[in-house]
Amino acid sequence: TEKLHIVGGGMAGSEAAWQAAEMGVEVVLHEMRPTVGTFAHRTGHLAEMVCSNSFRSDDDAENAVGQLHWEMRAAQGLVMTTADRHRLPAGGALAVDRDPFAEEVTARLKSHPKVTVEESEITELPEEGRWIFATGPLTSPALGEAIARATGADQLAFFDAIAPIVYAESIDMGTAWRQSRYDKGETEEERTAYINCPMTKDQYEAFIDALLAADKTEFHEGETADYFDGCLPIEVMAERGRETLRHGPMKPVGLTNPHKPDEKPHAVVQLRRDNALGTLYNIVGFQTKMKYGAQTSVFRMIPGLEEARFARLGGIHRNTFLNSPTLLDDQLRLRARPNIRFAGQITGVEGYVESAAMGLLAGRLAAAEILGRPLPTAPADSAMGALVHHITGGAEAKTFQPMNVNFGLFRPVEGLKGGRKGRRERYRAYTDRAKAAWRAWLAGAALDAA
Ligand code: FAD
Repeated sequence: TEKLHIVGGGMAGSEAAWQAAEMGVEVVLHEMRPTVGTFAHRTGHLAEMVCSNSFRSDDDAENAVGQLHWEMRAAQGLVMTTADRHRLPAGGALAVDRDPFAEEVTARLKSHPKVTVEESEITELPEEGRWIFATGPLTSPALGEAIARATGADQLAFFDAIAPIVYAESIDMGTAWRQSRYDKGETEEERTAYINCPMTKDQYEAFIDALLAADKTEFHEGETADYFDGCLPIEVMAERGRETLRHGPMKPVGLTNPHKPDEKPHAVVQLRRDNALGTLYNIVGFQTKMKYGAQTSVFRMIPGLEEARFARLGGIHRNTFLNSPTLLDDQLRLRARPNIRFAGQITGVEGYVESAAMGLLAGRLAAAEILGRPLPTAPADSAMGALVHHITGGAEAKTFQPMNVNFGLFRPVEGLKGGRKGRRERYRAYTDRAKAAWRAWLAGAALDAA
């Protein structure tokens, strides 16, 4: 029977290989390490954790990443079940002893009768056979070029430039207002696509001081900070001159504050809708290398964002990722070449857990196809489904940037209280609904495989 080829034995590739092999499909896993390295990996192990040793929150009732843990455990995921065996005390987080964890993932894959691990760098997208590419944020340069040739150079990024993303419901609309600059747009929806936060001169000056003083993260060794114009970190823009931001992303023109129509704002921060649901907004042009703690306190100085809650904070990293909303279908297949799937961070998800999750899904979907019993993609109400639907459809293609799992990606549950008060109850409703949807999908998958 047909073999499944998986390129990259990181979080996603290891999980994909396990899932497909457990479904009975022969897998060849191509991993270039240790012959060819990356600047971040240290070992030749599969599923090496390159930086932190944490899989983040393990709370599957009120946390979206914890819910994703739950879904992967329910699917007998290799990454999660191995992580559980190497757990370190870390409060509510799932931290692991990284070397024994990676050694065990490697040993379990290498000893699986259906898995062959080949130490090789793949540098082309093959025309023949069924493939999953899970080569991660540090995809080797030769393969990166081959992918760019296949997809179009503007469809593959080598750096991310992530502006912070705010939950819409946490923005104070008594201070902020909806309006597109110069009321541009054909429809009412377009004319009100932005949320604007006004600043007085004093507020602007204090904000610039805070930006300049904030703690910043350095680039990792091997990453180069060759910013291209149009994507400078805001603090670098502020360093170029105190007025630079006021002439850039914070320019106050073409906007009228309905709360104070007679007062012209000195500067305006704009937020743009980030998903089709309208639950998430990104702060336009605010990509940053500030440390997370500093970001929260600096951004809450913005009038209207005093109580803002962040679905994700900003960052700039070396990160190879596709414009998935344009390129991939909801099966994670390249629309133009359906024998090729992508999984993991290269699909535009962010983090160990999300990457492993997309590997789990891609592995099952590809194996099901090979077995002649194709599966529907993950249900939208599961955390897995919320994530895959975001990257392959829900996200804005034009401004697509990597995303981690969060409740803003979930379809709202009707009939619940909004705001801060109802938050815990709402999160529980999301995770209850997600568990039911994921169980049903797994049961269907099991029936199909039987
Ligand atoms: P990886 O785990 O990177 O796996 C990709 C694999 O593909 C690698 O083993 C690589 O050797 C192999 N490969 C690449 N090209 C080829 C090729 N052409 N042929 C064969 N094999 C190839 N996430 C977190 O959650 N927490 C963190 O603290 C964190 N810190 C990070 C720090 C850095 C410096 C970087 C770059 C990323 C960090 N991330 C972090 C993100 C993290 O890399 C991903 O979340 C996760 O490892 C991605 O999983 P993946 O399987 O997509 O890629």
